[in-house]
Amino acid sequence: MGIEKISWGNLMNYLEVSQALFEVASRSSRMLVLSHANPDADAIASILAFQRVFASDSRTVDVAIGPGTIPATLEFLPDLDRIQLIGDLETHEYDLLVLLDCADEGRTGEVGEQIVIELGKRITVVNIDHHVTNREFGDLNIIDPEAAATCEILTLLFEANNVEIDSELATILLAGVQGDTLGLRTPSTTGRTLDVSADLLYAGADLHTIVDYLFRVRPFSTIKLWGQVLYRVSMHGPLVWTEITPEMLEAAGADESEGEGIVNFLAGTAGARAAALLYQKPDGWRVSMRSLADDVDVAELAGLFGGGGHSRAAGCSLEAGIDARNRFLDIVADRIALSPASAD
Ligand code: 5GP
Ligand code: MN
Repeated sequence: MGIEKISWGNLMNYLEVSQALFEVASRSSRMLVLSHANPDADAIASILAFQRVFASDSRTVDVAIGPGTIPATLEFLPDLDRIQLIGDLETHEYDLLVLLDCADEGRTGEVGEQIVIELGKRITVVNIDHHVTNREFGDLNIIDPEAAATCEILTLLFEANNVEIDSELATILLAGVQGDTLGLRTPSTTGRTLDVSADLLYAGADLHTIVDYLFRVRPFSTIKLWGQVLYRVSMHGPLVWTEITPEMLEAAGADESEGEGIVNFLAGTAGARAAALLYQKPDGWRVSMRSLADDVDVAELAGLFGGGGHSRAAGCSLEAGIDARNRFLDIVADRIALSPASAD
């Protein structure tokens, strides 16, 4: 599988970086693998896949995420109980640190960022990611913005090194790809994404279960939350937006991760040029942004507020309070408004 495939434009690169990765990993006996706060399918699947491939009798691989809950939509994945919160790690005695799906150290949360900085002073840091805004903070940076998901990159790296991908590992990797591409529907989906998905299907990935869990089956609390959140939706100029407050979560009996799909749904609003979902938290707002308009780059907009991401999906954080929220809405609405000259 894989290695004969000459349709991959950067196969040579993948061979080289894969060799570099496996060489660094072979020298490790205690590895820490991290992904970001408010983890999504790609974040969770990446660290689980990494653990499967690199853990052995002679190598411990701890996996952890920044603050947030593991979405219920991922409960079909194996080994979820192995995932720790970065803040709960009992030791920091590692000889290799790997960050997956993190554009910068801060994506692992405040505690995570401190740990990454501390460990980075004495051990090798590997950074594997597909965000165009990645800051290349590692010693070994494997950044492929052409990839639709970090799990697409991992599949290519594993294939280049002839790792045997069994059906469970294939399901994990395909879940990450499906999650970040909304079921191979985002513009980030390429021929290579389809090739990788096909490889994973041939390896026995359970696409049916992935699609049911990620895109169809939802707890009743999620339906109740969506009802409240969509009830509050409004247009601020060309920006369609809504918010999730702690009261709404409590009334629905839902956790924050259950609001995950709302912003993608809103992005399809006819006449809107971008969508924003604002999560109200004690220490400020977490913002999720999406756009379907070719000339609206939400990573750039999120960048105005210290965030980042991809041109179609990005996020940032704001300080607490209604004023900060309204300022964000005004600035974004203003930036994405079609000027009379550019409207056709
Ligand atoms: P989501 O809206 O699904 O949380 O995030 C969309 C995309 O933007 C993801 O690729 C995520 O990694 C990125 N993103 C979300 N929030 C932030 C942030 O605060 N900073 C950066 N650099 N990227 C973010
Ligand atoms: Mn991702």
